[in-house]
Amino acid sequence: MRRLCVIPGDGIGAEVTPIAVAALRILLPELQTVEALAGWGCFVEHGCAVPERTLELMRECGAGLFGAVQSPAHAVPGYRSAILTLRQQLGLSVNLRPVRSRPGISPRPGIDLMILRENSEGLYIGREHMTSPDRAIAERQISRQACEILAQRAAQVARQRQTKRITLVHKANVLPLTCGLFRDTCRAVLEGQGLHAQIDERLVDVAALQLVEQPENFDLVVTTNLFGDILSDLASYWSGGLATAPSLNWGEGIALAEPVHGSAPDIAGSGRANPIAALLSAALLLRYHWSLPNEAARLESAVEGFLQEAGGVDFGTQTTERVTDGVLSRLGTLQG
Ligand code: ATP
Repeated sequence: MRRLCVIPGDGIGAEVTPIAVAALRILLPELQTVEALAGWGCFVEHGCAVPERTLELMRECGAGLFGAVQSPAHAVPGYRSAILTLRQQLGLSVNLRPVRSRPGISPRPGIDLMILRENSEGLYIGREHMTSPDRAIAERQISRQACEILAQRAAQVARQRQTKRITLVHKANVLPLTCGLFRDTCRAVLEGQGLHAQIDERLVDVAALQLVEQPENFDLVVTTNLFGDILSDLASYWSGGLATAPSLNWGEGIALAEPVHGSAPDIAGSGRANPIAALLSAALLLRYHWSLPNEAARLESAVEGFLQEAGGVDFGTQTTERVTDGVLSRLGTLQG
């Protein structure tokens, strides 16, 4: 019996997650779901952004669907981003971010790449301090163990995608210790995997330019936490922007699907939230965590079929309803 912990979070998170859950229920009628709290609203109400009960439910279910959380623009004592806490506490150490041309919403066809982002360390360990009133220091952690886990996952994804080229993205010319350890460890693990893929490298600035100029030349990109965060938002332009960009936080026996977008307070409650990122995140959960490629392909086909026919998603105030109706009705009629 598969179980799913649903964490709607703040803003449009609560509008898009029920739609992804509805899609999963069509594909997996036996699916059991349980809802859990997290986010800024939870912090304001209960004094905690991720209650212990949420972590327990995630561990019990082994799979989750996250909506979005709002973060205050300035540091608030006791508050730490809910998604960062979930990733760290649950050992969700790798983040999968596919970028793919989609009919009607992509600026050009022929792009199909995957960014694998280290999810647990880098500059995101949150160790910042002031050495004087005028100087702040942030620490960046790169460990051999986290790089090995990332590279092993990369090998798994490479096999599944039949990847021809893996690109390690770093800045080892400026950060020879941290980025050097990342590059050398990933390369050593990947070279030992017997993959039929060329292993390439790019400096992060060069990779950014090439992701703009020649995104077709990338297949599987493997990189550190902050670089992956920035490059995947940039590359999401090619698949139709943030509202359609999915991700999967992936750990050992546990995964949390998460649309890349935030809580979009500017459109929350207006019916304009696009659920495609949440739907495609659910497809990642199906394919990579539950090993259900056929169900994942059905969900992706339903989204693509709808986009093909609709010719885009600029539906004004009825985006949520129109995308939901279009995708769920297709899903119901697609053969398994
Ligand atoms: P947060 O503080 O939670 O990060 P934000 O508004 O700064 O919120 P996003 O939520 O990522 O950041 O939104 C960036 C822009 O993209 C906003 O204008 C938002 O309305 C739009 N947007 C994001 N997600 C969606 C979506 N699913 N559907 C439609 N528009 C979206």
